[in-house]
Amino acid sequence: VRSYSVLNNDQPRINGVKEVIAVASGKGGVGKSTVAVNLSVTLANKCRLKVGLLDADVHGPSVPTMMNIHQKPEVTRDMKMIPVENYEVKCMSLGLLVDRDAQIVWRGPIVMSALQKMSREVNWGGLDILEVDIPPGTGDAQLTMSQKLHLSGALIVSTPQDVALIDAHRGVRMFSKVQVPILRLIENMSYFKCPHCGEPSFIFGEDGAQKTAAEMGLQLVGEIPIEVDTRKSCDEGIPIVVSAPDSVVSKAYHYVAQNV
Ligand code: ADP
Repeated sequence: VRSYSVLNNDQPRINGVKEVIAVASGKGGVGKSTVAVNLSVTLANKCRLKVGLLDADVHGPSVPTMMNIHQKPEVTRDMKMIPVENYEVKCMSLGLLVDRDAQIVWRGPIVMSALQKMSREVNWGGLDILEVDIPPGTGDAQLTMSQKLHLSGALIVSTPQDVALIDAHRGVRMFSKVQVPILRLIENMSYFKCPHCGEPSFIFGEDGAQKTAAEMGLQLVGEIPIEVDTRKSCDEGIPIVVSAPDSVVSKAYHYVAQNV
């Protein structure tokens, strides 16, 4: 991962963290968390970086399930939380701090203060990169988070579908408002390869993300297929890059990791 100059705000850096990178999407359900999890594990395992993953999707935290972490973080003597580690990635999520079935209906300021705690009152212990899984959308919450987290850049995840890409456009504009550079557009669910005949089907359309990237002057990386194993591995808490390291999907993640 390159070093990015930070222009966006006067917030202090997060202690012990070199680069903070948001993984964002305009629309929910496009696989943002799936990408964030698999990319962070790839950056740690294949690129040998020290990686953290902050689940800022406070209304629907999915990192604990996808990373198979369920224990509450321990606290140091100076009252810093110790992130919970699995697959060589140090994780922090609101899902680790509240009961699984607790309904989280916090409003803006409380969400922000929880996020401040989960990012700054944590003993990250020296990271090259902290990935932040931002809640979907392009509203005030996402804008404020982008400012508070001292972001170096953002990755936008989208499917090739028009509605997702329109929202991805909005995301790009939102980050430019706070002068956060968009590092890459990542296309997820690009195609489905039939397990019987091997023929690819472009369920969400073809070349949509390529066109959007070109229009917006962004670089597209990814073309991550939609497939049953990825969905299963998310549900089971074993990222696909761990359960099937030599698969096409894992190779796609490795390519993305080398190009962000
Ligand atoms: P988001 O964070 O954008 O809301 P998630 O990462 O939670 O989306 O993914 C939504 C659902 O889609 C999850 O059940 C996940 O397992 C599944 N999913 C995401 N990407 C893929 C993929 N490439 N192939 C199959 N299932 C996927």
